[in-house]
Amino acid sequence: MTLPIITIPNPILRKKAKKIALKDIKTAEFQKLIDDMSKTMKKDGIGLAAPQINKSIRLIIVSHKDGPLAMINPQITYKSFRKETDQEGCLSIPNTFGDVKRSKTIKAKYTDREGKEILLKAQGLLARVIQHEVDHLDGVLFIDKAKNVKENVK
Ligand code: ZN
Repeated sequence: MTLPIITIPNPILRKKAKKIALKDIKTAEFQKLIDDMSKTMKKDGIGLAAPQINKSIRLIIVSHKDGPLAMINPQITYKSFRKETDQEGCLSIPNTFGDVKRSKTIKAKYTDREGKEILLKAQGLLARVIQHEVDHLDGVLFIDKAKNVKENVK
Protein backbone atom coordinates (compact mmCIF):
# COMPACT_ATOMS: atom_id res chain seq x y z
CA MET A 1 0.00 0.00 0.00
CA THR A 2 1.28 3.47 -0.77
CA LEU A 3 0.63 6.23 1.73
CA PRO A 4 -0.60 9.80 1.23
CA ILE A 5 2.11 12.44 1.57
CA ILE A 6 1.43 15.61 3.52
CA THR A 7 2.65 18.95 2.25
CA ILE A 8 3.53 22.36 3.69
CA PRO A 9 2.19 24.16 5.71
CA ASN A 10 1.14 21.04 7.69
CA PRO A 11 2.64 21.64 11.19
CA ILE A 12 3.75 17.97 11.54
CA LEU A 13 6.54 18.82 9.08
CA ARG A 14 7.93 21.35 11.58
CA LYS A 15 7.85 19.11 14.67
CA LYS A 16 10.81 17.26 16.15
CA ALA A 17 9.99 13.58 15.63
CA LYS A 18 10.02 11.06 18.49
CA LYS A 19 12.59 8.32 18.98
CA ILE A 20 11.41 4.78 18.23
CA ALA A 21 11.65 2.17 21.00
CA LEU A 22 13.55 -1.02 20.16
CA LYS A 23 10.62 -3.19 21.25
CA ASP A 24 8.35 -1.53 18.69
CA ILE A 25 10.60 -2.33 15.72
CA LYS A 26 9.71 -6.00 15.40
CA THR A 27 5.95 -5.52 15.59
CA ALA A 28 3.98 -6.46 12.47
CA GLU A 29 2.53 -2.97 12.38
CA PHE A 30 5.94 -1.30 12.28
CA GLN A 31 7.32 -3.74 9.70
CA LYS A 32 4.30 -3.00 7.50
CA LEU A 33 4.91 0.72 7.92
CA ILE A 34 8.46 0.23 6.62
CA ASP A 35 7.15 -1.72 3.60
CA ASP A 36 4.45 0.86 2.87
CA MET A 37 6.88 3.76 3.19
CA SER A 38 9.34 1.94 0.90
CA LYS A 39 6.63 1.52 -1.75
CA THR A 40 5.59 5.15 -1.36
CA MET A 41 9.17 6.33 -1.78
CA LYS A 42 9.88 4.15 -4.81
CA LYS A 43 6.87 5.58 -6.63
CA ASP A 44 8.02 9.19 -6.56
CA GLY A 45 11.32 9.83 -4.87
CA ILE A 46 14.69 8.77 -3.55
CA GLY A 47 14.00 9.37 0.13
CA LEU A 48 11.09 9.66 2.54
CA ALA A 49 10.84 10.60 6.21
CA ALA A 50 7.99 9.43 8.47
CA PRO A 51 6.74 12.99 9.22
CA GLN A 52 5.94 13.24 5.49
CA ILE A 53 3.33 10.50 5.90
CA ASN A 54 1.96 12.20 9.01
CA LYS A 55 3.89 10.15 11.60
CA SER A 56 6.15 12.11 13.89
CA ILE A 57 8.66 9.32 14.52
CA ARG A 58 12.38 8.96 13.69
CA LEU A 59 12.21 6.69 10.65
CA ILE A 60 13.51 7.43 7.16
CA ILE A 61 13.68 5.39 3.96
CA VAL A 62 16.44 6.11 1.47
CA SER A 63 17.07 4.73 -1.98
CA HIS A 64 20.13 2.48 -1.79
CA LYS A 65 21.79 0.37 -4.48
CA ASP A 66 20.44 -2.75 -2.72
CA GLY A 67 16.88 -1.33 -2.60
CA PRO A 68 14.97 0.88 -0.16
CA LEU A 69 16.89 1.15 3.11
CA ALA A 70 15.00 1.76 6.37
CA MET A 71 17.01 3.79 8.90
CA ILE A 72 15.51 3.92 12.40
CA ASN A 73 16.63 6.65 14.83
CA PRO A 74 19.36 7.77 12.39
CA GLN A 75 22.11 10.01 13.69
CA ILE A 76 24.75 11.66 11.57
CA THR A 77 27.98 11.15 13.49
CA TYR A 78 30.37 12.74 10.99
CA LYS A 79 29.97 15.37 8.29
CA SER A 80 32.87 16.19 6.00
CA PHE A 81 34.16 19.74 5.94
CA ARG A 82 34.11 19.42 2.17
CA LYS A 83 30.69 20.36 0.85
CA GLU A 84 28.99 20.38 -2.52
CA THR A 85 25.94 22.18 -3.86
CA ASP A 86 23.20 20.46 -5.81
CA GLN A 87 19.56 21.00 -6.63
CA GLU A 88 16.98 19.42 -4.32
CA GLY A 89 13.25 19.01 -4.23
CA CYS A 90 10.88 17.45 -1.72
CA LEU A 91 7.63 15.49 -2.04
CA SER A 92 6.17 17.67 0.74
CA ILE A 93 6.98 20.91 -1.12
CA PRO A 94 5.55 20.31 -4.59
CA ASN A 95 6.93 21.98 -7.71
CA THR A 96 9.77 23.67 -5.83
CA PHE A 97 13.50 23.26 -6.28
CA GLY A 98 16.57 24.94 -4.86
CA ASP A 99 20.32 24.61 -4.50
CA VAL A 100 21.45 23.18 -1.17
CA LYS A 101 25.02 22.94 0.12
CA ARG A 102 25.62 19.65 1.98
CA SER A 103 28.59 17.68 3.24
CA LYS A 104 30.05 15.44 0.57
CA THR A 105 30.73 12.52 2.88
CA ILE A 106 28.96 11.51 6.08
CA LYS A 107 28.87 8.71 8.60
CA ALA A 108 25.53 7.71 10.07
CA LYS A 109 24.50 5.41 12.88
CA TYR A 110 21.05 3.85 12.83
CA THR A 111 19.02 0.82 13.84
CA ASP A 112 17.93 -1.47 11.01
CA ARG A 113 14.53 -3.17 10.67
CA GLU A 114 15.84 -6.22 12.54
CA GLY A 115 16.83 -4.06 15.49
CA LYS A 116 20.57 -4.17 14.77
CA GLU A 117 22.79 -1.12 15.13
CA ILE A 118 24.54 -0.21 11.89
CA LEU A 119 27.25 2.25 10.94
CA LEU A 120 27.08 3.54 7.39
CA LYS A 121 29.51 5.65 5.43
CA ALA A 122 27.92 7.50 2.52
CA GLN A 123 29.01 9.94 -0.12
CA GLY A 124 27.54 11.88 -3.02
CA LEU A 125 23.81 11.47 -3.63
CA LEU A 126 23.25 8.97 -0.79
CA ALA A 127 24.95 11.30 1.69
CA ARG A 128 22.78 14.16 0.42
CA VAL A 129 19.54 12.17 0.71
CA ILE A 130 20.35 11.04 4.27
CA GLN A 131 21.11 14.64 5.31
CA HIS A 132 17.85 15.86 3.73
CA GLU A 133 15.78 13.12 5.41
CA VAL A 134 17.39 13.45 8.86
CA ASP A 135 16.61 17.19 8.69
CA HIS A 136 12.92 16.25 8.30
CA LEU A 137 13.07 14.46 11.67
CA ASP A 138 14.08 17.75 13.27
CA GLY A 139 11.44 19.80 11.48
CA VAL A 140 13.96 21.28 9.04
CA LEU A 141 13.04 21.58 5.35
CA PHE A 142 15.38 22.07 2.40
CA ILE A 143 13.85 25.47 1.63
CA ASP A 144 15.31 26.68 4.96
CA LYS A 145 18.80 26.12 3.54
CA ALA A 146 18.30 26.51 -0.21
CA LYS A 147 19.49 29.25 -2.52
CA ASN A 148 17.99 30.11 -5.91
CA VAL A 149 14.62 28.63 -4.93
CA LYS A 150 12.35 28.14 -7.91
CA GLU A 151 8.63 27.78 -7.20
CA ASN A 152 5.77 26.65 -9.42
CA VAL A 153 8.07 24.49 -11.52
CA LYS A 154 5.91 22.19 -13.63
ZN1 ZN B 1 11.93 16.13 1.82
